[in-house]
Amino acid sequence: MNGSYKRVILKLSGEALSGGKGHGLDDKTINNICSKIVEISKRDVQIAIVVGGGNYWRGKSSTMIDRSTSDNMGMLGTVINALRLQASLEEMGVETRVQTAIAMQQVAEPYIRRRALRHLEKGRIVIFGAGSGLPYFSTDTTAALRAAEIDADVILIGKQGVDGVYDDDPNINPDAKKFDELTYIDILNLGLGIMDSTATSLCMDNNIPLQVFGIDDPQNLIRIFDGEKIGTIIR
Ligand code: UDP
Repeated sequence: MNGSYKRVILKLSGEALSGGKGHGLDDKTINNICSKIVEISKRDVQIAIVVGGGNYWRGKSSTMIDRSTSDNMGMLGTVINALRLQASLEEMGVETRVQTAIAMQQVAEPYIRRRALRHLEKGRIVIFGAGSGLPYFSTDTTAALRAAEIDADVILIGKQGVDGVYDDDPNINPDAKKFDELTYIDILNLGLGIMDSTATSLCMDNNIPLQVFGIDDPQNLIRIFDGEKIGTIIR
């Protein structure tokens, strides 16, 4: 299946860009990830990236301000990450476009589905910033939504600190068992915190497969396209 991925959504959490610090941006880590993305794009794979913002702000982490304001702050954080990814990818010689779900036309294009598709067909990497533009949602949900809209073959979820889906936190429990394959309903029933339930349901209702893998070693991205069975596949 892996070799046949022709159009993918790559979901990168904000933290994955922070180089293990959990906050801010780490140039070396970002360049490392981007170099692998470029390698994949040269294999004629259409790549759209949905980037999170947890390295700056997560809406639900504030008890002091209203959730909508807090989520707006989170969405703006994702735009910083989108621009940072764009800078590295362009430096490496690929054409890219950032499209944001909150209009900020001096900075990036607004999200327009047909335009995003056109960019992908022309071999440009499209980076989606500002999540879905809606509070109370996550960038995982955005990845599911955009995958459905652009008819992506799969959502590749690059996780930091873990290389797939486990029945318990492998960083705490050494006996945690890794799943090679799962169904969407398993994720919901077992309460596996790999993705929020809104995102999981959206994938389930639209039959969008997910592949969860470890992004700490960005070479894993290449391994997926070489057809290696890594991480956990959810369908
Ligand atoms: N967010 C939002 N709507 C969206 C996507 C994101 O309100 O459609 C906000 C939300 O506050 C979230 C923050 O942006 O906590 C950062 O996104 P996320 O937590 O998904 O980032 P990640 O954990 O992947 O870095």
